[in-house]
Amino acid sequence: MSATSFEKLSVPKDGELIQIDGPNLKVPNRVILPFIEGDGTGGDIWRASVRVFDAAVKVAYGGERSVVWWEVYAGEKANALYGGNVWLPEDTLKAIKLATVAIKGPLTTPVGGGIRSLNVGLRQELDLYACVRPVKWVPGVPSPVREPQKLDVVIFRENTEDVYAGIEWAQGSPEAVALIDYIGKNFGKKIRLDSGIGIKPISITGTERLVRKAINYAIKEGRKSVTLVHKGNIMKFTEGAFRDWGYALAIREFRDQIITEEELWANGGTMPAGKILIKDRIADSIFQQVLLRPDEYEVLCTPNLNGDYLSDACAAQIGGLGMAPGSNIADHIGVFEATHGTAPKYADKDVINPGSVILSGVMMFEYLGWKEAANVITKALATTIDQKRVTYDLERLLPGSTLLKCSEFGSAIIENMKK
Ligand code: NAP
Repeated sequence: MSATSFEKLSVPKDGELIQIDGPNLKVPNRVILPFIEGDGTGGDIWRASVRVFDAAVKVAYGGERSVVWWEVYAGEKANALYGGNVWLPEDTLKAIKLATVAIKGPLTTPVGGGIRSLNVGLRQELDLYACVRPVKWVPGVPSPVREPQKLDVVIFRENTEDVYAGIEWAQGSPEAVALIDYIGKNFGKKIRLDSGIGIKPISITGTERLVRKAINYAIKEGRKSVTLVHKGNIMKFTEGAFRDWGYALAIREFRDQIITEEELWANGGTMPAGKILIKDRIADSIFQQVLLRPDEYEVLCTPNLNGDYLSDACAAQIGGLGMAPGSNIADHIGVFEATHGTAPKYADKDVINPGSVILSGVMMFEYLGWKEAANVITKALATTIDQKRVTYDLERLLPGSTLLKCSEFGSAIIENMKK
């Protein structure tokens, strides 16, 4: 099967595909972008979000640019269409590879059982090694902290390694029993016989490409520091190595642009102009730091599991998952996504907050270089929040606000759009 032949999909005829040009993307004016609607509340969220995206592109560029949306499938819709035990069809992976940039809603991950998380599958199959999540407060969004504006970080979380990568065997399985036996006999380490086993690999390759992406981002966006977050005091050869390899790469590849914290203190503690500070923090300490001294952090770069916890904790500080965007990025391919799950109890009730997917769309437009469209959405969203016209999750925390449905929130953002 060639890269452009599909079992059940066809490339839209009325648009053009993104081309890769060295490190850059060449984005046509009528760009084809695949989307995965998502399970649970995904349908409601997508219907509201896509109207916002189309309206923003129209406001920003008149008719000169537009998006040709291409529906591709994962999760329950994929299973209904492709049958059998297919939840993440080969078609979908090929379509995203072909189109380079895509956006998705949340997907259900069955707990236990034989089905691997579709999100993890997607990240691994497309080698989307960096999960990038900006966490920045939208003024007016109710927050549990006194000064939510002080937190403005971008989290780069490794996506393909660590215990989360799915190398696991169930308690009592032949593999778990064999591994426990092998480790006992060959390495003298005792593991209880009734244990499940998970393997936590962290490689130089995985670490370096993530840290490189984070530092390049800091350079491009004028950010002042990159902090390596790890639990290296306990897991020396995985998390500790992540820190050591990260510093080594920073010094080797970015010598003129960076200074390490150790070098800074050796030089009297005065930050040289124009340099990026590379520092590290232990994972448990960073949870305190982002609460107590949030403005000392800008880019956080971390292995997978720490990043998972940290992104949700940071999102809570700026008002919760309903307003937290995310993306999974390879060298070129980018899949932009909601950071929350499918919130199944609200499915098809038209109540959920579509903010996370809408803000993921902002990130996507920025990634495409369509900054004007991104700005139109950002401003209109801020105006809507400022008017206190919000969905249930914010309404219950925001005295004097008007409760909007998911679709109405999308419409309110569109009403507030200005070039
Ligand atoms: P969840 O779907 O994120 O929902 C947990 C709670 O968070 C909701 O009950 C709701 O709280 C709040 N919430 C989530 N999204 C919201 C939104 N857009 N607007 C307002 N509030 C929102 O987490 P879960 O119940 O643990 O997971 C459900 C399923 O989603 C699971 O199958 C899980 O594996 C999957 N999941 C998918 C992704 C993904 O696709 N990226 C990520 C995480 C989880 P209230 O009830 O308090 O209003």
